[in-house]
Amino acid sequence: MTDMDVRPTDTARADATTGETPGDATAGAAARGEDARCEAGLLGVLADLVGRGLAGAEPGRDQALAVLRSGDDDLLDVLAAAGRLRRHHFGRRVKLNFLVNLKSGLCPEDCSYCSQRLGSQAGILRYSWLRPQEAAASAGAGIAGGARRVCLVASGRGPTDRDVDRVADTIGAIKQAHPEVEVCACLGLLSDGQADRLRSAGADAYNHNLNTSGENYADICSTHTYDDRVRTVDEARGAGLSPCSGIIAGMGESDEDLVDVAFALRALRPDSIPVNFLMPFEGTPLAGEWNLDPRRCLRILAMVRFVNPAAEVRLAGGREIHLGSMQALALSVANSIFLGDYLTSEGQQGHQDLKMIEEAGYTVEGLADAEAAADTARSVTLRHRGVGTELPPNA
Ligand code: SF4
Repeated sequence: MTDMDVRPTDTARADATTGETPGDATAGAAARGEDARCEAGLLGVLADLVGRGLAGAEPGRDQALAVLRSGDDDLLDVLAAAGRLRRHHFGRRVKLNFLVNLKSGLCPEDCSYCSQRLGSQAGILRYSWLRPQEAAASAGAGIAGGARRVCLVASGRGPTDRDVDRVADTIGAIKQAHPEVEVCACLGLLSDGQADRLRSAGADAYNHNLNTSGENYADICSTHTYDDRVRTVDEARGAGLSPCSGIIAGMGESDEDLVDVAFALRALRPDSIPVNFLMPFEGTPLAGEWNLDPRRCLRILAMVRFVNPAAEVRLAGGREIHLGSMQALALSVANSIFLGDYLTSEGQQGHQDLKMIEEAGYTVEGLADAEAAADTARSVTLRHRGVGTELPPNA
């Protein structure tokens, strides 16, 4: 399969109805024939990707690239195919995750995408470790909103043993109040024995993202390596923690980089894969890097799903600003989202997340339908602006 086989179907759309000459008609017929082959090519690729996904067989790299390079006219076909894998493994459930930023900013590392990095001028909140009860109270708010996993995140290269003790106390406080809820820790690079201690404290999972391809990694960070990250994910798995590792798209990477990192994740076998879309914070080196559009984001999600069919694909940071009104469509591929706010930026209102899930026909994992629907009571807002008022119209 080459890229030529799957280029957008609207190329060279010559047609007799456009008034072409006989010579043009021959060329038009050839073009139509080529279009048909192209369309069949992508549909064939998608059918094969679904078949491989259901059978647990590895897809081809060229197939993954074809998904990324498919045209807007093919987008619904791509989402329908990826959606079959999503529904096979997760039905119509959506898992809600809630972030608690235990320690914000003040990081000595230089990850170029991060608002908490060394030298960041972003106007984010900066604070040192939350006390365990404060963190547990924040987690409780997320759980009350429907979250079934709490992600405890701290800025920094990696925790000291004392930091691990603090986090262990926080995990204990959350588990005591909400034993049914999963706790994931995300504390950076782990030293020997720290994964075991987190597991013993009751952590269920550990997150450490690969973020981008190994080849691209040195371009986004100079203070630690891609291999450091892979090692930490392996250590977490070795300690019995559910590995969580994902990507950030939109940092100027190539299609090949995205495919590389998707396959690297397949090799790493994380249970969950957060797919972040770069939030270009002012005051960071990647400010101004607006490289994504909603259709591109959807194709990236679909590609990740095809390469990792059984993984929890989590629609993560940047979903609101990059997907906009297409967020609900992304649920046909992703089976997990973050509820509410992110580490240093605000997300959609939690009740709007629930409403979006319900309106798109999905159910919140672990939450009774009645509860999920409770906040979505409808009402009509009467107009009090525009004509007939002193206020300007809504335009
Ligand atoms: S190590 Fe974590 S907190 Fe620090 S700059 Fe990198 S991503 Fe940000």
